[in-house]
Amino acid sequence: MRLLFLLERRNTMVKGLYIHIPFCHQICHYCDFNKVFFKDQPVDAYIDSLGKELALWKQEGALDKPLETIFLGGGTPTSLDPDQLKKLLGYIHEYVPMAEKLEWTSEANPDELTKEKMEVLFAGGVNRLSMGVQTFDADLLQRLGRTHSNQDVHRAVKEAREVGFTNISFDLMYGLPGQTMAQWEDTLKQAFAFDLPHFSAYSLIIEPKTVFYNLMTKGKLNAVTEDLEADMYEKLMAEMEQRGLKQYEISNFGRPGFQSRHNLIYWDNEEYIGAGAGAHGYVRGIRYSNAGPLKKYMGPLDEGNRPLLSTHEVPMNEQMEEEMFLGLRKTAGVSLAHFQEKFGRSLEEVYGEIIAAEIGKKNLAIEEGRIKLTKHGRFVGNEVFEKFLLA
Ligand code: SF4
Repeated sequence: MRLLFLLERRNTMVKGLYIHIPFCHQICHYCDFNKVFFKDQPVDAYIDSLGKELALWKQEGALDKPLETIFLGGGTPTSLDPDQLKKLLGYIHEYVPMAEKLEWTSEANPDELTKEKMEVLFAGGVNRLSMGVQTFDADLLQRLGRTHSNQDVHRAVKEAREVGFTNISFDLMYGLPGQTMAQWEDTLKQAFAFDLPHFSAYSLIIEPKTVFYNLMTKGKLNAVTEDLEADMYEKLMAEMEQRGLKQYEISNFGRPGFQSRHNLIYWDNEEYIGAGAGAHGYVRGIRYSNAGPLKKYMGPLDEGNRPLLSTHEVPMNEQMEEEMFLGLRKTAGVSLAHFQEKFGRSLEEVYGEIIAAEIGKKNLAIEEGRIKLTKHGRFVGNEVFEKFLLA
């Protein structure tokens, strides 16, 4: 596979870089991400492996043009100590050309985000923090397996502002086991008190191999009803709108100029490099994933090889599917003209019948040359997206 990349040293369309830090000091009860307990892991060697992976991308010509976004995710990037963070940022600066108006995000757990780490991140160029807050209800936090407190969130935001961060986002969750509407309203109220420019809010999804999944199979989860979850989503959208936090994606809200440019790369179906254990990327029309277990990720890199688990050259029909089910996540939807320009076929020609049926069900609408989910459609988004699979 590496040969293929080497042979294809043509210009890439890569716009962003995702870097996966798979370490966590605690494991949350709902989480199915690729992560491991921090303790006893080869963290420094892993950072060196990330450096080697970036060096390979550079060598193969995929890092020739300045990138517009970088995103440190996980796991938890803030599980790294200040020296490890410095080392990581050093590798990124060594290999990654950056656009002048770069958006550089780091995910962060409030309790781990010390002022010293924030100073390292900020001095290294990180200009956006995405904090995993989830809820302001202490009991629910505990049930989720989170270790931070509300005080941690207050301290972290205060210190982040002192350090110089202005672009701060909270991740929130709703539809949590046993969560009431009053608790959700209170979390929203407390979150808004921080006067942040961006929020992401996700409904809980119970994934296999999680503590919550085990509880569910034993009938002990106390899951919320679908109706309550839908009411919570409705409440979320109304409250955000009232505060000028414009919904620009199913789960994302921001003030003008504060949309997550990195996540928009995914929803715009554009190309990005994913580096790190278990990371996914999309480069030169090929979607790939890296090996997830640390040894399987680090071993090939020690030999100068890419740690690939899978590669898939995306054929045209799949590109069109992805354009639709990623693009329809955005409130702005999919531009009819852009689709035509990108694929040489009109949306009407490829998806005419499906679009007509979904407009009939009031799930989709066409406005100003764009096709988008209606407010009603946002509640049944996944059902609508499935219709766009060209089997
Ligand atoms: S949710 Fe985040 S912090 Fe919690 S276990 Fe998963 S990756 Fe780690």
